[in-house]
Amino acid sequence: MFVAGEDHGRGILIDTTKLATPRVDTDRIRVAVGELLAAIGEDPLREGLRETPNRVAQSYSEFFAGLGVDPLEHLQDVVAIGSASGTAMAVPFTGLGDLVLLREIEFRSMCEHHLLPFVGVAHLAYRPKDRLVGLGRLARVVDTLAARPQLQERLTEQIADALETGLAPSGVFVMLEATHLCLAARGTRQARSTTVTTAARGSLREASARTEIIAMIGLPRG
Ligand code: ZN
Repeated sequence: MFVAGEDHGRGILIDTTKLATPRVDTDRIRVAVGELLAAIGEDPLREGLRETPNRVAQSYSEFFAGLGVDPLEHLQDVVAIGSASGTAMAVPFTGLGDLVLLREIEFRSMCEHHLLPFVGVAHLAYRPKDRLVGLGRLARVVDTLAARPQLQERLTEQIADALETGLAPSGVFVMLEATHLCLAARGTRQARSTTVTTAARGSLREASARTEIIAMIGLPRG
């Protein structure tokens, strides 16, 4: 019953000419990681650590690949409602017309306070006015915004803003559930606690709409 959209045969390839050149300076990361290892009293040149600066540089390039990339790039290829044949993307939504809901988009981001990852799932809902977009594009918006030094609250708001700007829908609702390694591994070590954040725009700010969407997010899968 949940929306299983199409990408209308366009795939989810990105026009690489529009991608910003990577800004992550891997040489500089290598030097910094060597220095960090020395600072904790390790020998950066010992066998097991020799490749570590390289590996960290590669990982960080990936973790922060969204810096300088505009998430709206992923929402340019929208489909005007009525022009797409045979695409059933919206489900009936009591009292509010149609709703597109995509549950459990996996994401990982990096907490900017501790440079430790937080990982979880995003649930995105929007109530289209005249534009739809392939569901893969929605996941790319999440990916791009998550690949920056982040706070979960801000990431949630930025995803909602991108959907609002890119799709001009009547409403947007975003919920993120994540486990933060900085909570799980340090201090009080709350390994199993999850943080839930929400952001709503337009008609989906209404309490009744939010209640209904949260109930749909919680429905059993499959
Ligand atoms: Zn943190």
